Amino acid sequence: MRTHHCNELRKEHVGQASTLVGWVNTKRDHHGVIFIDIRDREGVTQAVFRPEENPEAAKLSHSLRTEDVIQVTGRVDERPVIDGDSTVNEAIATGEIELVASDLQIINKAEVLPFQLDKDLSNEDLRLSHRYLDLRRPRMANNIRLRHKVTKAARDFLDSQGFVEVETPVLSKSTPEGARDFLVPSRLHPGAFYALPQAPQQYKQLLMVAGVEKYFQIARCFRDEDLRADRQPEFTQVDVEASFTDPEQVISLIEGCLAAMFKAGRGTDIPLPFERMSWHDAMDLYGSDKPERRFEMKLVDLSKIFAKSGFKVFSQTVKNGGVVKAINAKGFAGITTGQVDKLTEIAVTHGAKGLAYIQARGEDPSTWRSPITKFFSPEELTAMREAMHIEEGDLVLFAADKWQAASEILGRIRLEAAAMQNLLDGKDDILDFLWVLEFPLLELDEEEGRYIAVHHPFTRPVDADRAKLEAGEYDGLRAQAYDVVLNGHELGGGSIRIHESDLQRAMFTALGISDEQAAAEFGHILEAFQFGAPPHGGIALGLDRIVMLIAGESSIREVIAFPKNNKGMDLMTSSPAPAEPRQLRDLRIKSTAQDKAKS
Ligand code: ASP
Repeated sequence: MRTHHCNELRKEHVGQASTLVGWVNTKRDHHGVIFIDIRDREGVTQAVFRPEENPEAAKLSHSLRTEDVIQVTGRVDERPVIDGDSTVNEAIATGEIELVASDLQIINKAEVLPFQLDKDLSNEDLRLSHRYLDLRRPRMANNIRLRHKVTKAARDFLDSQGFVEVETPVLSKSTPEGARDFLVPSRLHPGAFYALPQAPQQYKQLLMVAGVEKYFQIARCFRDEDLRADRQPEFTQVDVEASFTDPEQVISLIEGCLAAMFKAGRGTDIPLPFERMSWHDAMDLYGSDKPERRFEMKLVDLSKIFAKSGFKVFSQTVKNGGVVKAINAKGFAGITTGQVDKLTEIAVTHGAKGLAYIQARGEDPSTWRSPITKFFSPEELTAMREAMHIEEGDLVLFAADKWQAASEILGRIRLEAAAMQNLLDGKDDILDFLWVLEFPLLELDEEEGRYIAVHHPFTRPVDADRAKLEAGEYDGLRAQAYDVVLNGHELGGGSIRIHESDLQRAMFTALGISDEQAAAEFGHILEAFQFGAPPHGGIALGLDRIVMLIAGESSIREVIAFPKNNKGMDLMTSSPAPAEPRQLRDLRIKSTAQDKAKS
């Protein structure tokens, strides 16, 4: 069939015969001479149909429509100079030549498309409902191939380090990663369900007990969570686990893996090793465990200044063990009322009662506009001005609450204020990789009045805290966990694991899981740990997010071939959908038969 692809012919091919296949990208009619840009996945080539050279092919070419599938045979020619003007098209790689057509085969006709492929389309639902057309567009075609390259780089790198790829079940058992499960009813066991894996966590640990020592998998994971730009109900992890390892080994392995992925996808060498920051500092300075550090606006603790303030909201908070913190959005005193409302709404959604602020019209506190400064003493004002480096034109925003809550609220406000000020404009090329370390093991869920795992129940405490966990002292326990962050996105996270059944039981107890419950749900892993389980640890990287960041896209949907929309629907196949009567009948027949057998 074809002799060349559509991005292959160059000046050195002039005079040769060539056959191309592909889609009609564009068609132009110049006084009866038809120009077709024929496109395949590699690129485009111009074919020209001249009635005087080949009347039959030229006549047929008149009937072509965009996206028809065709085969063109002809002679490669240099693009001519017409009236002293070169017709070379610098914008495409094949722009110096054209294919002078002698034969045209229409392989398959295309109807008029629901949308044009050469324009960016803002209606995402329309794109998703005909995703196979959307994927023909060069940007999406590039993203798909980019994903392949990045995935392959991860696979090759891990293979080169002795890691073995093992597939684990998709029809599996519920494993707690903090989200809701998707359930699949079993036909053979009516009333019983498989859960789709939120991650292969338990299987990869069991593979360590099995002696695999170095495992990885490009693993599909399923979590029934609310969707966001960087979240899908099914997504892919580069999942890794190793025996006889420690955090340093995992960290340098993953730095190497990410370097390989970024090299393959972007062609850039990322500087190694990555910086590191404790979870406490990340929360304290940026109000987030995945700090975006491409702009400053750090959180400042003003508790000392306001500990005895006449402004009771602040002094009471400090007295009750809380903190008063603030950020300075430099030069943002001109914030609009609408923007203040939006920031206030964010603060309130995350648990604040309101949002206190100062618009500094000048350096002197007498020029400041604020609903709260009238309650501050002159000393408090001066001390705050110094601590916050307040200058003319600045906007200071406050939060007063328990340390973590106040930090998280300001962390959200910080990101939104930065977005309002376009502080990230022109910073796309900065890659701020960071390890966040020294996570807490447990977190108190105030609403439920119980502890939950910050990572997951299989995470190991630091050695010094082990006795406390076993003794039931849960405050302030530290985990052997690590997250890798890029530009405010969590790329992945993992930990050294618990490998002893008594310690694992103690962890379940901390999480309010009774011995009976633990035996019923996790009996297999508790038992496995009794048969010579090696110490082990690992990590999982979010492949979709990594490819998204390498591609410079702002949603993971752009790097997933067939994603769900923001309501969890696959608009192309209309799924989810009610089950077919036949599927339901199959389930019923089996259960009736079993009921009969029992009676
Ligand atoms: N299974 C964990 C997750 O999905 C990652 C890990 O601990 O390896 O977040």
